[in-house]
Amino acid sequence: MCGIVGYTGSNPELTALDVVLGGLRRLEYRGYDSAGVALHTPDGLVMVKRSGKLARLTEALEDAPLPHSVTGIGHTRWATHGGPTDDNAHPHIGTGGDVAVVHNGIIENFAELKAELIEQGVEFASQTDTEVAAHLLARAYAAEGDLAEAMCSVARRL
Ligand code: GLU
Repeated sequence: MCGIVGYTGSNPELTALDVVLGGLRRLEYRGYDSAGVALHTPDGLVMVKRSGKLARLTEALEDAPLPHSVTGIGHTRWATHGGPTDDNAHPHIGTGGDVAVVHNGIIENFAELKAELIEQGVEFASQTDTEVAAHLLARAYAAEGDLAEAMCSVARRL
């Protein structure tokens, strides 16, 4: 069963990455096959994902540190759609790079949504069901300009 952690705050002494990784460590007991984080930075979203244990992710983050951020999300995945690879690990970023999504469970109608998105020219970077949610959200946000509204309209389609 996956683990999801999100953090945003205004205390500059806390980094979102530390909070998110701390949360993911506390959720490790649930079991997982890959892990990833995405942070919001002044230069946009940055993301690191690795198959395997959290230690692989933290090693990658030590080798190539991410910029400071006070807003981030993280995920430990238990694969249902697509194998446990770096690309299939969450988060998934929608076209345009403005939204990153983590998700627990199965999107039962993902195949028809994916076919519809591919027909509209969307390119997929993973085999997951989750990635359809990222692209749908990115498109709804671009069209509506309001993230909460976009999330509600996308949730009705999943
Ligand atoms: N169905 C999603 C996937 O395979 C989420 C799995 C989970 O709950 O960790 O990526």
